[in-house]
Amino acid sequence: MGTSSYDVIVVGMGPAGASAAYKLSRAGLSVLGLEKQTHPRYKVCGGGLSARIQEILPSDLESVIEDTVNRMIFSYGPDEQYVVESKKPIAFMVMRSRFDHWLVEKAQQAGTEVHEGESVTSLTHQLDGVEVRTARGHYHAKVVIGADGALSVVGQQLFPHRGLQKIPALESEIRSESSHPHHYSKTALISLNAATKGYGWIFPKKDGLSIGVGEFVRGMNRPKRSFQQFAQHEPTLAGIEIPLPLGHPIPVFNRTPGVRNEQWNGGLVHGRAVLVGDAGHLVDPLLGEGIYYAVRSGQLAAANIVTALRHSAPCFDGYERAVIREFGLEFQIASRLGRLVYGVPRSWHRWAGKTFPGPYQGVLRRYCSMLQGHETYETLWARILTGMTPSFARRS
Ligand SMILES: Cc1cc2nc3c(=O)[nH]c(=O)nc-3n(C[C@H](O)[C@H](O)[C@H](O)COP(=O)(O)OP(=O)(O)OC[C@H]3O[C@@H](n4cnc5c(N)ncnc54)[C@H](O)[C@@H]3O)c2cc1C
Repeated sequence: MGTSSYDVIVVGMGPAGASAAYKLSRAGLSVLGLEKQTHPRYKVCGGGLSARIQEILPSDLESVIEDTVNRMIFSYGPDEQYVVESKKPIAFMVMRSRFDHWLVEKAQQAGTEVHEGESVTSLTHQLDGVEVRTARGHYHAKVVIGADGALSVVGQQLFPHRGLQKIPALESEIRSESSHPHHYSKTALISLNAATKGYGWIFPKKDGLSIGVGEFVRGMNRPKRSFQQFAQHEPTLAGIEIPLPLGHPIPVFNRTPGVRNEQWNGGLVHGRAVLVGDAGHLVDPLLGEGIYYAVRSGQLAAANIVTALRHSAPCFDGYERAVIREFGLEFQIASRLGRLVYGVPRSWHRWAGKTFPGPYQGVLRRYCSMLQGHETYETLWARILTGMTPSFARRS
């Protein structure tokens, strides 16, 4: 069998890979997308999209939205809840099977050749590109995009020195006949009580609810116990039959504290291979949001590849610089907030929330505003420093 050649091979057609393939094909490049599963496929995920994602996705996104969230409940239990409401959407809820399939179809319509049920098994750097092997054949590309998720084969084989953090998460889907969807219509719950160093969530879907738990601190590997406790003790889940959860790691961003953006070698580019989305560990370390960053990093990689391939000796470092420019400081501040949120005992949070309800609620409101795209982590952090510090100081 001969080797088929492409400008770009995208390994993995989740949100990151499909978004990259769509842009590349629209720019006129020949693109092969290799996907080990067959869409529509189930993906363990809460399916919560921050509302700002509508700025970067095609306008018919609404065709795959299950519910639009205008109300977020941050809970320490039934008697200690902080509610943020907004007239504008804070988040959109999707089922990943439908959402990812929709993105893959967009890429195909733009010209991407997609091989489903074809898993990449090995990759080799070459001078003029990368050789990609599957059980069905071998292919050559001028550049390869690793969009194959948290357990990336591209990352393991072409970026061997990465020692990055993955946190455990569990998720279950409750169908409507056994749930009370009206209770959560347009409402998402973040339970800060549900995990020792993480949180639990209940997200509304058209036909039921997605519920899950993530532990955000290394070594806190008891997500099963956290999930069981959450399912048993969350009052709004009382009497509901909850199917056994499925687990999947979340590869959160974890740059060494103190390393500045200019010094950050994100390890996203090596020769003619680039990593996007979960494969590149581009997940918000505060709450584990990854879909927005998957789509956006796929788009940034595609834009850089289109430009770089016009040169006789293409260089893809511009992609990494673009990621650092857009997400570098944001992830750094999210890490800082994560250390604050998960690093101090929950009793401290409860005390702070009760003693300073205004500022506490203010931070949560601004977090939601960030999900809407009106704020960034940088502006949120600045407000915490300038706004909250004096009010804490005044009271003490
Ligand atoms: C329990 C849980 C809940 C989550 N909830 C949310 C949430 O509510 N909101 C949010 O924003 N993020 C959430 N995330 C994170 C989010 O799921 C990921 O960040 C997102 O899926 C990343 O997209 P991706 O395209 O990079 O990778 P993926 O979605 O993992 O896609 C990778 C694709 O590559 C394919 N693949 C893998 N290996 C190969 C191979 N060898 N050859 C060919 N194809 C391959 C896979 O089949 C898959 O289709 C959650 C994660 C977990 C685990």
